[in-house]
Order: sequence, then C-alpha cells, then structure tokens
Amino acid sequence: MTTILIIEDDDIVRKLVRKILTQEGYKVMEASDGNSGTKLAQENQPDLIVCDIMMPQLNGYQVLELLQCNQETEAIPFIFLTAKAEKQYMRQGMQLGADDYLTKPFTKNELLGAVSARLTKYSSLKQRYAGSPGKDVDAQLSQRTNRDALTNLPTQLALRDLFNQIVQASAKSSKNKSGDGPKTPSVLPVFCISLDRFQRVIATLGYESATALFQAIAQRIKDIVSTQGVVVRLSGDDFCAILKAVDNKQSILNFAQELIDSFKEPFTLEDQKIFVGISVGIAIYPRDNLDIRDLLQNANKAMLKSRQKGGNQYQLFTAAFNVGKSNLITLETDLRYAIQREEIEVHYQPKMDLQTGKIKGSEALLRWYHPERGAVPPNQFLPLAEEIGLIEEIGEFVLNQSCRQLKIWQNTGLNTFQMSVNLSARQFNQLNLHQRLSRILIDNSIEPEHLELELTESTLVQNAEVAVRRLKALKTLGVAIAIDDFGTGYSSLSYLQQFPFDVLKIDRSFVKNIHLNKANSAIITAIITMAHQLGLKVIAEGVESQEELDFLKKHDCDAIQGFLFSYAVSAKEFSSSPFMSNDFQSDLI
Ligand code: C2E
Ligand code: CA
Ligand code: CA
Repeated sequence: MTTILIIEDDDIVRKLVRKILTQEGYKVMEASDGNSGTKLAQENQPDLIVCDIMMPQLNGYQVLELLQCNQETEAIPFIFLTAKAEKQYMRQGMQLGADDYLTKPFTKNELLGAVSARLTKYSSLKQRYAGSPGKDVDAQLSQRTNRDALTNLPTQLALRDLFNQIVQASAKSSKNKSGDGPKTPSVLPVFCISLDRFQRVIATLGYESATALFQAIAQRIKDIVSTQGVVVRLSGDDFCAILKAVDNKQSILNFAQELIDSFKEPFTLEDQKIFVGISVGIAIYPRDNLDIRDLLQNANKAMLKSRQKGGNQYQLFTAAFNVGKSNLITLETDLRYAIQREEIEVHYQPKMDLQTGKIKGSEALLRWYHPERGAVPPNQFLPLAEEIGLIEEIGEFVLNQSCRQLKIWQNTGLNTFQMSVNLSARQFNQLNLHQRLSRILIDNSIEPEHLELELTESTLVQNAEVAVRRLKALKTLGVAIAIDDFGTGYSSLSYLQQFPFDVLKIDRSFVKNIHLNKANSAIITAIITMAHQLGLKVIAEGVESQEELDFLKKHDCDAIQGFLFSYAVSAKEFSSSPFMSNDFQSDLI
C-alpha cells in the first residue's frame, strides 16, 4: 500500500489532506511539526511526503535538507505546501530539490493530481532499476541521483569526483609539458552560474513550460562548456562549471563573458520569447582554495556579488569577500541562520500610563546578536530580511515569542498588560495573516485586545483601499491597531480617519525637546486633541527627559514610552524591573 507522510502544523489543513488521501486509498501518516516529521520519514520511508513550509521547530526547507542528507530518504518525492504569500520562497524550495509544490488553498484535484504524478514518476524509476538483476533498488536510486533527471547533468554528488579527475589530469599534462624545466601548477577555474530572477520567470509559466525552459537553459550551458570542462547541476537553478587547466586569467574571463553573452539570445517556448539572465562567480584553484567545496563556496560568494550588482555579469572571487565580513552578502547568509542559531531575541520596552503612573504594557523590539559583529540594529537587518523574503519567518517568531511572554506576565497578576508588536508591510500583506494571528492568540490563550499591532503609515498608504479592508478584517479578531511613527508621513489625520485605529503613536522626532520647540509643541497638542476627538488613544515614543514627560502629561497624552523609563531589555531583565511589581507607581509621572 502506498504510504504518504503529511507534515503540516495547521491541524485543519493536515486533516483535510489526510481525508482526501485516505478516501483515495492511500495509507497516511501525520506529523504536526518538522522534527517529528523528519523522524517519521526516516523510520518509515514513506513513498511520498507532503510538507508545509512555515512550521515551528523545523521549517519545510530544513526537513527537506535533512532528508536529502540521508541515503534512505533522499529520493522520496517531496511536495511543498505553500501559502500564496510565500511564493517567493519557492525558488529556495526548488533549489533544494522539491519535486513540486501546491499553493494553499488547493483543490482536491490539484492535490491528487500532484500526488499521483509524483508517485508515477517515482515508481517507474524504481521499476526501471528493479529490472536489473541483483541490484538493490534503493542503492540504484541513490546512484541515479548522481545524474539529474531533469537536465541529465551530473549532480552535486558527482562534483568532487569530477573535480579530482580534472585536477589529476591537468597535473599529469603539466608534468609532461614541462619536461625537466620548472613546473607550472595548473590553474582550474570553478564557475558558479545562477539564473537571475528565475523564480519570477517560472511563476508565470506553469510547471511543464518551466521544466522545458530549464532543460533548454541547461543545454545552452552544456554547449558552451562542452569540450572545455564539465558542468554540474547544483540544487535548483544553480550550475557549476569546472574548466580543464587554463593558461591565463584572460581566458577565464573570456569564458565567463561567453557564457553571459550566450544568454543574450532569448529562449523560445511555444512561440513565446523568454529572456533569462545569469550571474557568474569564479573561484580559482589553487589560488583561492584547494578543496572543491570551499572553491564552490567562494565562487558562490562571487556570484552573489555579481547578482547584487544587477546580474548579467561575472565576478572573480577575491579574498576581500571573506575579510571583515562587512558586506551584505555574508550578512544575508548569516541572517538566514540567525533564528536557528538563536541569535535573534525579542526585547521589551515598557509603555507607561500617564494617568495611573503604572505600566501599561510593552513594545516587542527585535535584537540580533551576531557572533562577530555584535548587536546589529533592527533598522539594518529588517530591510534585508524583507528583501530576501525572511521577514515573515522573523515576524512569526516575534509574534510567537512576545505572545508567550505576554501570557507569562499576565499570569503574574498584570491582567491588563498589553503587548505591542510591529508589523512590516510584507507581513501585513501576508494572505494568511488573519489565520496565523488567530492561531497564535488561541495557542497562548490571549484575549485579543491585549495584543496591539503597530503599523506605519507608509505600510497603509501603499494601497489604502486594500489596507482598510485588511485592517477591518484584523479588527474582527479583536486585536488593537496602532499607527506608528505618526507625523513622519504625509497624510493628514483626516485622511487616516478611514483606517480603524485604536491608538496613535507620535513619532519620537516630534517628542525630542518638545518643551523647547514651539512648532513641534503646537503640532503635538493639535494631534492629541484631534486624535481624542476621533476616539483614539495617544502614546508618545522616545521620551527621554522629565520635561518632555511633563509637557505630554499636561497636554493629555495617554501614555509614553522612552529611555526615561527604560531601554528595550531582555524578558528576564524586564521581569525583574520595579515597574513590574503590582504596586509600582512611578514618581516621575
Ligand atoms: P519603532 O517601531 O519606531 O520602535 C521604536 C524605536 O525607538 C526602537 O528602536 C526603540 O529602541 C527606540 N526608542 C525607544 N525609546 C527611545 C528613546 O527614548 N530615545 C530614542 N532615541 N529611541 C528610543 P529599535 O529597537 O532600534 O527599532 C527600530 C525600528 O525597527 C522600530 O522602530 C521598528 O520599526 C523596527 N522593528 C523593531 N522590531 C521589529 C519587529 O519585530 N518587527 C518589525 N516589523 N519591525 C521592528
Ligand atoms: Ca513601533
Ligand atoms: Ca515608532
């Protein structure tokens, strides 16, 4: 009987998939997180795995990566389940070698279609090898993975052998050539070739055409490399080429240029012309390294550099990419692992109620402690996280952590304690944000009004109509909504009136020396009055001095936040601060 493993943390989706598959006669195993899913797969070796991407503990990519490290599980067909908003991640999934993906919500037919297509392919592969007598099917299958089924190129598994063969051959020929004279070490360039914005291209094509296009691309690279060396398909849309010994640097650069130029010609698919660009990075043996894995890593760094410069170009690896670690590329790689390595923490800054002098709640603020750089400010790494598609994962982490913490603090007797969490534009536009939030609220048994989401004006005015609708939908959950950094944008309060806010947060640039700055104090008093007329509470951020606090209190501001009370501190430090005791009352207020 065919066994299918479903790894999905969302109970509803998992049960639905199970129902559809069991009705169809499959045997189904279930796991609700990546860890137990990986374990089940290793113990039972199912015939196919359907796996969610966003999950606590191990996400879908990590599951796939782990399974691919293991001979027993590496060939199991793997289908990703992805939310629409996560589509940009699919490149990562395809790179890792997922066989297919389904976008949630999917229909029964889509699910069954993908499952049966993958199973048919897998079983014909198995049968082909079962036919050869005496050979163990699974050993054959893993041998099979040394050649990529899609492109018929060798895979990464064959890379080391191929490289060693070339090194040996060129050492031999340089010996022969040099005779008794001085030996010239052979120079072998390693190229990392990556397709620019390929995920965007395939997103518009559909599976069949994307496959055909990819095969044509592989063929084109193969044609160029042909007699000069070998080409290997790395994961996803990356290739590695190694040339046989070359005499000089110029011929390496010429080859790289030839590769790039060959992509100037569009690909033709069903009368449609499709342009694909490539970024090329080059590392040189033995100059840059002796080991193929490190060489490839160097070449990859150089490739990322050329992509960063806009793509369609090549870049030679320089040792400078490794020193100082001051460039964005390494920061990007590090950020991808930061959550896993527990380098990212949520800190909390108290919000004080100006009427009672007591703590009202806290704002959750991210901190990244990089092992070499030290603390990286959120303003530096959050835009990067947005750009490389990590913000949702990070945002999810902040929401989970801070809600768990909120519950802990409420349990100490601070029943009305409220947690504010910042939402980036990308997070706000996540299609399943509503479900995610409600799940987090339920999981942590939090009353929704104790969670406040802070959104900036720029997030909302991008597409105001949609934003209003989305905000209203979020409001139905019962969470509070604050407009953050108010005053820094261009919209008037009356324009913003259409959005269902509960709280207006005055930007800290207005608060600075408010008691001395006539223009700002006039603005702030007007904002407070108007906000109150609209039924909004007002909080001022960045309060650093007693004078600023006094001014705000005098003008009826409801709450404040700032260094005057506390920096954002760790949960532990926050818990032991005096304002957390039930009978605390500030003597500053
Ligand atoms: P923000 O939302 O305006 O957060 C308030 C920022 O003001 C924080 O900076 C905080 O440390 C700082 N601050 C608080 N009190 C004072 C004060 O008295 N004086 C001064 N000069 N600054 C004060 P931080 O932690 O560096 O965060 C910067 C920005 O990064 C935040 O601005 C927010 O936009 C973003 N951010 C932080 N955490 C998250 C997060 O979890 N998700 C998202 N989407 N964005 C976040
Ligand atoms: Ca904020
Ligand atoms: Ca702010």
